[in-house]
Amino acid sequence: MKILLKNALVLTNGKKYSFLRQDILINQNLIAEVSDDISCNADEIIDCTNRIVMPGLINAHTHAPMSLLRGQGDDLQLKDWLNKFTWPREAKMSSEQIKIGAMLAIAEMIRCGVTCFDEHYFHMDAIAKAVEQSGIRAVLGYSMIDRTKFVEKPEFDFEGKGKKELKISEKFIKDWNNKAEQRITVSVSPHASFTCSEQLLNAASKSSKKHDCILHIHAAETRSELAFMLNYYKLRPIQFLKKCGCINEKSVLAHGVYVSKSEIEIIARNKASVCTCPVSNLKLASGGAPPIPQYLKSKVNLCIGTDGAASNNTLSIFESMKIGALEQKNFHFDASIIRADDYLYMGTKGGAKALNINAGEIQKNKLADLIMLDINSPNIIPFVNNAGWLVYAAGPQNVTDTMVNGKWLMRDRIICTFDEYEILKKAQKTADSLN
Ligand SMILES: [Zn+2]
Repeated sequence: MKILLKNALVLTNGKKYSFLRQDILINQNLIAEVSDDISCNADEIIDCTNRIVMPGLINAHTHAPMSLLRGQGDDLQLKDWLNKFTWPREAKMSSEQIKIGAMLAIAEMIRCGVTCFDEHYFHMDAIAKAVEQSGIRAVLGYSMIDRTKFVEKPEFDFEGKGKKELKISEKFIKDWNNKAEQRITVSVSPHASFTCSEQLLNAASKSSKKHDCILHIHAAETRSELAFMLNYYKLRPIQFLKKCGCINEKSVLAHGVYVSKSEIEIIARNKASVCTCPVSNLKLASGGAPPIPQYLKSKVNLCIGTDGAASNNTLSIFESMKIGALEQKNFHFDASIIRADDYLYMGTKGGAKALNINAGEIQKNKLADLIMLDINSPNIIPFVNNAGWLVYAAGPQNVTDTMVNGKWLMRDRIICTFDEYEILKKAQKTADSLN
């Protein structure tokens, strides 16, 4: 199948992003050619005169089924949000409900122009089936925890719970790696430095090396996590994770807010990626702001995620890019400290690099994971040829088409790979039943 996109305004690469009028030829699942004028016998030729074409956005940290909990635990302190609201409801979720939650999240992401997401949760088979059915791309990992006591003196159970968790993760990797036309790749996903024992983290590191896959973990998210780590291990989160073998070029460290200068150096030296989740951090009042300018200065690869919709409450990377940039400007009292280009990189190429996906750019031989935006929309007129025009003004409402692996998941704002209305109905019913 060959698809030719004619005369589109294409997002180019480079330190400073801009748009260039070009044609794009898609052959099977790859971008075959990008140039000024392509003429060939394509199966589908689309006039893109009024369309922006850009790489699909990459949501590098989320928990898709949490969409079922959206809007119900708002305005709570983090401790209450976790203990009283989120965890009791998650404990009730069945595998079937998880799949409905994942489909709901995928429908939203397709509409938001997200073509790939990085997920860790439980009942991962159900999420993998949702990815398989919907046509989206994902990096999936089973979230492992072996801490058994969260109050007073913490307790871990590696021999019992930890080893059981590892077995589930190993089976998931075996069953799903490179499945669904290779749209699914896997990760090893220990939950966090304070919820996993040292032995489990060591084992996770070995497993990630054995399978040559991503190691995805929450790291340095809150002040209370930092206090716990200093108190219990006499080490800061990144120092401890480094000791356990969890900081390397395969690591995706979600949040990375409370890190010292020397921890940034550890991350940079070991080529790990940091996934910033600004909206979730702001909503749960993590305090402070991640040291994005320092990460950039140290050349740490940055990507961006929404986290789950229970703490965001959307899965819009457009929104996260804008709010992330605003958070930094405000925190540093300096509007020039960060550029829209930095956040656009995180949402595209940075995410692809972190997740080891051959995408994130409109370029020959990259995967055909791309989106189209209608330029004739009041919120983005006048067109200005720079990244800020996109990052500070565009949003999911401008996304008309979403393609993954050379196949349309959404065409002219209609999702083509599943019955969206049916999913919305089921999701409402499921969410009601969890309360
Ligand atoms: Zn998370």
